[in-house]
Amino acid sequence: MKPWLFLMVLTPPDQDHPMHELSLCYGLLDQVQRVAEQNQATLVTRITLQVGPLSGAEPDLIASAFTVASAGTVAEGAELITERAPVIVVCNECGERGEVPTNKLLCPACGGWQTRVESGDELIMSSLELEKDDAVDETAENEDKVKPDV
Ligand SMILES: [Zn+2]
Repeated sequence: MKPWLFLMVLTPPDQDHPMHELSLCYGLLDQVQRVAEQNQATLVTRITLQVGPLSGAEPDLIASAFTVASAGTVAEGAELITERAPVIVVCNECGERGEVPTNKLLCPACGGWQTRVESGDELIMSSLELEKDDAVDETAENEDKVKPDV
């Protein structure tokens, strides 16, 4: 099994949706399905997701929604790892770029409030581990070879 690395930004849908995390998971699974098909993968074993604190998505809720959304897909039973992504702002006053606390989006250099969020409001699928068909074929061949000669 080889790990396959990808970097994708998933656009958060309508923030007011009552099942926010569930719709995020369907979006995630669309991407996962596409990557799995492109690589002729039969199974997705692990997904690493970076969750921006400003995305409005809770990692715990994503994990439980993923279990529901992935049922019957290529990613059913996959391990979902959620990592908290940093909030990065750029200052419009002095041009400084840096990580800030979620509840205080001020410039880390001059303390100015005229900042724009560069990242921290999105979900990023940072890695995906797939299992491919050829591994299954190899196993089948090995089984044939160990058949005893009668
Ligand atoms: Zn500044």
